[in-house]
Amino acid sequence: MSHNQDVMNKVCPCGSNKPFDYCCKPIVQGQKPAPTAEALMRSRYTAFALGAIDYLINTTAPENRGEDDAEILADQVKYTNWTGLTILDTSQGNRSDETGMVEFEANFETDDQSGTLYEKSNFRKEDGFWIYVDGDVEIRT
Ligand SMILES: [Zn+2]
Repeated sequence: MSHNQDVMNKVCPCGSNKPFDYCCKPIVQGQKPAPTAEALMRSRYTAFALGAIDYLINTTAPENRGEDDAEILADQVKYTNWTGLTILDTSQGNRSDETGMVEFEANFETDDQSGTLYEKSNFRKEDGFWIYVDGDVEIRT
């Protein structure tokens, strides 16, 4: 867990260059809702990096949650090290919108490979909270 502790004291894992305490931390810990689809996307990347599995499930659209999600995510966070996030484009997803799209690249490393996950993610607002709906994913290694 020393890796995670390091992250806590430094800049946010999402690549915003803001301190973690003032960026994704209050969002992942449920102290404040993500104001935009991009902020939700960033907080989910951070949750992947830190292994905040409950947060990942809670911010996925209910119809797209699977019974095995917790198990699958636990495996993913165990074997994948996320090393960087780049937001490429956004469409809508602002405070006044109900839906939004975020296009991004996320770099990762596992024991035997490193690569880039490229995704166009769709988000929607539900009861004032942005949630992840689905996305087109491409893995480049
Ligand atoms: Zn952040």
